Amino acid sequence: MVRNEDLVNELLRWKYIKSERVKNAFLSVDRGDFVPDDVRPQAYYDEPLPIGYNQTISAPSMVAIMLELLDLHDEDKVLEIGTGSGYNACLLAALSGRVITIERIPQLRKFAQDNMKKCKYREKITVLLGDGSVGYEPEAPYDKILVTCGAPEIPPALVEQLREGGRMIIPVGGTFFQELYIVDKVNGEITKRVWGDVAFVPMIGKYGHRWA
Ligand code: SAM
Repeated sequence: MVRNEDLVNELLRWKYIKSERVKNAFLSVDRGDFVPDDVRPQAYYDEPLPIGYNQTISAPSMVAIMLELLDLHDEDKVLEIGTGSGYNACLLAALSGRVITIERIPQLRKFAQDNMKKCKYREKITVLLGDGSVGYEPEAPYDKILVTCGAPEIPPALVEQLREGGRMIIPVGGTFFQELYIVDKVNGEITKRVWGDVAFVPMIGKYGHRWA
């Protein structure tokens, strides 16, 4: 597979992409712009790839699943925890009004910001450096929260910063394997549903795993 379009066709074929909106977002953000040079030949395959510092850009099928579950709207304000390459943040920006994304590794924040220069939605995105497990209070509440690293529990700060009626997608579990939760906030209470088993790099931070 040599083009972004090939990847999108594969994600459609296996029904990871279900909606026209998510399809158009994937067509408008080229994954090849978000991976390091040494793995660029694999950019359009459905697999996670290393981006340095022991971190990864997630498999496109996983990204598609999470974006479909988030049910994004044009006016949504979104918080992402784990900027990584910036790929997911650009897809979120294609589907929403505003994206705040937080990364804890300074070199990856810079990598993402450089990659985003090629993204036509970059004006909608703010890339912050810090511990995303505590969220980002100044811009709260958020309509949607996407966590792209595995947390040991649902961080209470993220629950607080989720708008009434909002949704959070978050992997919860150990440092290698987790369950992907769909968390909805209704009448101030949260409901949790499990989508299935997943494998993300760990969230490190106050409400994350404690080791670095
Ligand atoms: N969404 C990313 C993308 O599109 O490339 C992939 C994210 S990668 C699977 C997970 C990221 O979460 C890593 O870059 C890691 O450094 C970051 N991370 C881990 N704990 C974090 C925390 N407490 N706050 C912010 N970022 C964190």
